[in-house]
Amino acid sequence: MTKKLQFETLAIQSTEPKGDETGSVANAIYPSTTFKRESDGSYHSGFIYTRDNNPNRQLLENTLCQLDEGKAAFAFASGMAAISAVLQTLKTGDHVLVPDDAYYSVHAAVQEIFARWDLTHTLVDMTDLDAVKAAIQNNTTLIWLESPSNPLLKVSNIKTIVKLAHQHNALCVVDNTWCTPVLQRPLELGADVVMYSTTKYFGGHSDCLSGALVVGHQTSNDLVLKLKNIQKLSGAVPSPFDCWLITRGIKTLKLRVLKQVENAQKLAAYLHGHEKIKAVHFPDLPHHPQHKLAQIQMPDGCGAMLSIEVGNNQAEAMKLISQLNLFTVATSLGGIESLVEHRKSVEGPTSLTPDNLIRISVGIEHFDDLINDWQLTLSL
Ligand SMILES: *Cc1c(COP(=O)(O)O)cnc(C)c1O
Repeated sequence: MTKKLQFETLAIQSTEPKGDETGSVANAIYPSTTFKRESDGSYHSGFIYTRDNNPNRQLLENTLCQLDEGKAAFAFASGMAAISAVLQTLKTGDHVLVPDDAYYSVHAAVQEIFARWDLTHTLVDMTDLDAVKAAIQNNTTLIWLESPSNPLLKVSNIKTIVKLAHQHNALCVVDNTWCTPVLQRPLELGADVVMYSTTKYFGGHSDCLSGALVVGHQTSNDLVLKLKNIQKLSGAVPSPFDCWLITRGIKTLKLRVLKQVENAQKLAAYLHGHEKIKAVHFPDLPHHPQHKLAQIQMPDGCGAMLSIEVGNNQAEAMKLISQLNLFTVATSLGGIESLVEHRKSVEGPTSLTPDNLIRISVGIEHFDDLINDWQLTLSL
């Protein structure tokens, strides 16, 4: 019997060129939008038109499927396109539970776009199971989870909420962007679909916008077919080059994520002990309200994202981060470079994020340099 490959090995093996006649060790890019048809009407390799499928996308989707051990994967032109595809599988009149603390554009999409198709939603604190139960209605068909959440790093109990969803014949979909399959496996915890903004850690170099969905084995084929149809007919597919970039990123995913986690853990511990920092939100720290759950759900680390509260208002928080040299002030996350941002002003006027909250995406730089940067800035 062949032994199941470890994640690092699988990430290399599954992304190698398949059937390449040149012997190339690196993958080729197939920019062709269309593929030749044979005289009998068939297609040589099954490819017809790139919106439908493309060799680079197929390789990426096969790999994503293997990494999360799902039964089907779909790549999209952005994380939001992947999220929209899930919402488009629902019927008019359906009701969705959305975390009160979630990627801001998810709130915006349900409010500004899907409400026009009579999709209703309730924002819920997903760390409060009684609140989740109370929010479920007869027409609730989806519970959306994001754990740890953005930007407050709240951890929700995926296994328990999946059970609740299934008791009510609702789907549970988990945005696992911040953890990646390196740190958290929602499908193993029973979730129906796992969603990624592959723009972040999968790509890892802040140079490719893309997203993905991976569907679990226990989930209906009906959902798989619906998602495939939406991917093809809505047309928000990634380009072959984008697929190639993400496929390449996957080869070093675990290496990068583990280094980023190590740096984040040390930085969080330092900031937690500093008198100028009013709060550190990071599930790995023992004072975090869901620390125990986090250790069970993410045994190898809770990610490399943290947020802190500093100063009394937006101006003070922004002044502080402008003095950092190695942390670029920019939105987004998950790249090899460290970034900081004032989150509320990026989210928008209805944001519930604290005024003085700074979100930090920790990169792979040497920790001594990163810590020196903060020490210097906080001593000013
Ligand atoms: C960035 C992000 C998204 C959206 O992904 P895009 O690729 O920007 O469309 C969704 N969820 C989380 C947690 C994110 O960080």
